[in-house]
Amino acid sequence: HAPYEELEPLVSRLNEQRGELLERMSAIQDADDMRREFTANVTHELKTPIASISGASELIRDGICRPEDVQGFAGRIYDDARRLSSLVSDILMLSKLDETERAGDRASLFGPDEQVDLLVVAHDVERRLAPKAARMGVTLHVEGVSYVIQGNARLLDELVSNLVENAIRYNREDGHVYVWVLPHDGRPSIRVSDTGIGIPEEAQKKVFERFYRVDKGRSRDMGGTGLGLAIVKHAAAFHDAEVSLTSKLGEGTSVTVTFP
Ligand code: ADP
Repeated sequence: HAPYEELEPLVSRLNEQRGELLERMSAIQDADDMRREFTANVTHELKTPIASISGASELIRDGICRPEDVQGFAGRIYDDARRLSSLVSDILMLSKLDETERAGDRASLFGPDEQVDLLVVAHDVERRLAPKAARMGVTLHVEGVSYVIQGNARLLDELVSNLVENAIRYNREDGHVYVWVLPHDGRPSIRVSDTGIGIPEEAQKKVFERFYRVDKGRSRDMGGTGLGLAIVKHAAAFHDAEVSLTSKLGEGTSVTVTFP
């Protein structure tokens, strides 16, 4: 028998390895729990509009709804179909981003990086979303300097669109959205600020989680999927950029993405 002193280092090494293994198992378990929760959320989010579409179209088909109500039901079907379409594209975008992170290969799903001017992206988003903002009484402003970075144009457009859409969606009537393209600590950055409802302190970290919403009703009514900021987080990570959010209830929210 080996004396205890000789066994001691062996035992402590075994203990260390046991600790590492337990840690790895718990990380796998967490990832598995997250996947399960995501799937449950997706199922729920998809089922709701599908049930509504089936119900409304059945009433029309069977002639149960009054002729004067047909238009209302058709409107509901249209809105739910639009919602399904946004959900599906957001889910696909997130799964492409997940896959890219997992494989560590940016080019295979998104193509090679290109030169992208952040100010051009901001103006494109402004042009596209200004009519929607105007319908809600919100004014968009884009200011700043031309800043060319290496990246993926479509993903940067998606990132800025999601931020501006939120800034419009959670604003007040006669509110404003400011998009700034400026250096931040000497690095290229884009900041989207609004004069909206703000986010409570305790929710400010959670809003980047998939399907987390401060106000479910408002998000849904405004066409939100609950995935916008999760996409922003991953699209920023794709560009090695940092995201920071500041917000004050009743005053507004500001999200800054700073590129390397
Ligand atoms: P959604 O599709 O619901 O807007 P997001 O992931 O984009 O999903 O945002 C998550 C939640 O964070 C929103 O439901 C909303 O409650 C809150 N939120 C996001 N952006 C803003 C903002 N600019 N002002 C206030 N609340 C916001």
